[in-house]
Amino acid sequence: MSDAIDILQTTFGYDSFRDKQQAIVEHVIAGQDALVLMPTGGGKSLCYQIPALARDGLAIIVSPLIALMQDQVEALQQLGVKAAFLNSSLSVEDNASITSKVLSGEIKILYVAPERLTVSSFLNLLDEVNTHVGLALFAIDEAHCVSQWGHDFRPEYRQLTILHDRFPKVPRIALTATADGPTRAEIISQLALENAQQFISSFDRPNIRYHVTIKDNARQQLLHFLEREHANDAGIIYCLSRKKVEATAAWLTEKGWQALPYHAGLSAQLREHNQRRFLREEGIIMVATIAFGMGIDKPNVRFVAHLDLPKSMEGYYQETGRAGRDGLPANAWMAYGMGDVVSMRQMLDSGDASEERKRLEVIKLNALLGFCESTGCRHQSILRYFGEEHPGNCGQCDNCINPVDTWLATQAAQMALSCVYRTGQRFGAGHLIDVLIGKLTPQIERFNHDKVSTFGIGKDFSQSQWNSVYRQLTAAGYLEADIAAYGGLKLTETARPILKGEQEIWLRRDATPEKRASKAERSSRLKEAFEGANDDPLWLALKAKRMELAKEQSVPPYVIFHDATLIEILNQKPQDLTAMGQISGIGQAKLERYGLAFLEVIAEAG
Ligand code: ADP
Ligand code: ZN
Repeated sequence: MSDAIDILQTTFGYDSFRDKQQAIVEHVIAGQDALVLMPTGGGKSLCYQIPALARDGLAIIVSPLIALMQDQVEALQQLGVKAAFLNSSLSVEDNASITSKVLSGEIKILYVAPERLTVSSFLNLLDEVNTHVGLALFAIDEAHCVSQWGHDFRPEYRQLTILHDRFPKVPRIALTATADGPTRAEIISQLALENAQQFISSFDRPNIRYHVTIKDNARQQLLHFLEREHANDAGIIYCLSRKKVEATAAWLTEKGWQALPYHAGLSAQLREHNQRRFLREEGIIMVATIAFGMGIDKPNVRFVAHLDLPKSMEGYYQETGRAGRDGLPANAWMAYGMGDVVSMRQMLDSGDASEERKRLEVIKLNALLGFCESTGCRHQSILRYFGEEHPGNCGQCDNCINPVDTWLATQAAQMALSCVYRTGQRFGAGHLIDVLIGKLTPQIERFNHDKVSTFGIGKDFSQSQWNSVYRQLTAAGYLEADIAAYGGLKLTETARPILKGEQEIWLRRDATPEKRASKAERSSRLKEAFEGANDDPLWLALKAKRMELAKEQSVPPYVIFHDATLIEILNQKPQDLTAMGQISGIGQAKLERYGLAFLEVIAEAG
């Protein structure tokens, strides 16, 4: 289909389709329904934007967030595409002007908030459009919003079948980056997409490097990570509580980083202000609760860091997935420790959810803890969780770069578990370790724990080795935290076979801090990707020009050019407009608008 490839090259400035894009685009252009399951950064937008341009009439894109619509429309306008949005943020006049442009066929792609679609005046407008201009397609973006169990549930999404009932001949394409099976099933049934062809891409994110660090002064570890790999980058740091968000943002600011807080307790204005700065400026770090992220379309988020555990693998995948949408190297970094295991288990226990729901959440948390403690390839574990195969050995995760040893820990586990038992199943790991290594603390004297049989039997191991043992035993469910006893550890049923010597147990050997640092240093791919760019005067000049143009139009810099495009300009140094037009990401409209400005920058630097 030359139409589609022609639009891809001329309008979007890309050479070729990625993965399943071409099949999807051709399917929709031919007037068929499609369900597209593709990871974040996979290139979903083109799957409906190209058919929207190739087919006659107006394309309607249902999108759940105002900020997202605005971004997409701005990006399309930069490409010379006639796009607009309708949502509650518009004035009455703007609304009327867009409506009249829609009716006269002056607009090709219209983004609409879901609540708008079911309003009868809007449906009547669609009737008229259908008669006079035609309807090219309906695209339902972020289709998982239809799922009641996801955290992005939007009740209005459940009424979207109205489109199909009223305009059965108009093709529909629903898209989501949600990887779990139950949500997919719900999308199909709720949107009546049983007959749509499914296009399922791999959910692997090869450009993301996963890294789980064992907590040992998490703030300092975070700081080292930022200094080593992300001196000038935009990123997101997730924390569990609002308080920790604010404290972390303030601390980073004090250390000279541009960090902003974001959580649901801040005023709407401040949240919007901070989000805007994150999108429009470069190198801003957002410290946030999970209230932040949905619909954040910023392509060059270079890292996502977790200072606290996410709730599930789904959460982890989705949150880390916000890094590296542009396909360039990005990091997903997490600091994790004994305290996280205890506090997550307590949180689940004390919540007021139904027993069934709690059981489900415990299963989900266990899967996540298993992932944290795993010694295998992270890409492989994540994909396996979502039912996809991966050969492992990715070379792009902590465990592949720096293989983890395991050791036969049956005897140590017996000592650790029996110490819990001998001291009455109500003390935390700190005290238990003191008993094992035979430290005569006031608390030990007070409880006469120097008289128990496990006192001093673990002298051969260091405190941090015992810490690692307790963390892993708790993560694996042999021990559980007792809320009534302030997080004291208790044995569970599964501990019995170990104590009786009926079961072997292998544990991971945590890397020492020195080993972690030197290996991480060696493996910084980000430095390779942006090799030397950060201090190259031409790179700085290109970025400055991009920022200047973005400010003039009040759009984010990546709407002018993505980093990948800017890097290619830096490497190729095109000398004329023809050469500039060959750069990936520069289509006709952008070449006309910005080609000369960037040629000048190159000429001045040369
Ligand atoms: P998603 O919505 O799936 O997260 P996007 O549609 O935002 O992903 O695309 C992610 C990035 O990949 C964008 O920067 C987009 O311009 C780029 N992209 C998409 N398709 C192609 C392609 N065929 N060639 C080059 N870049 C592409
Ligand atoms: Zn790996």
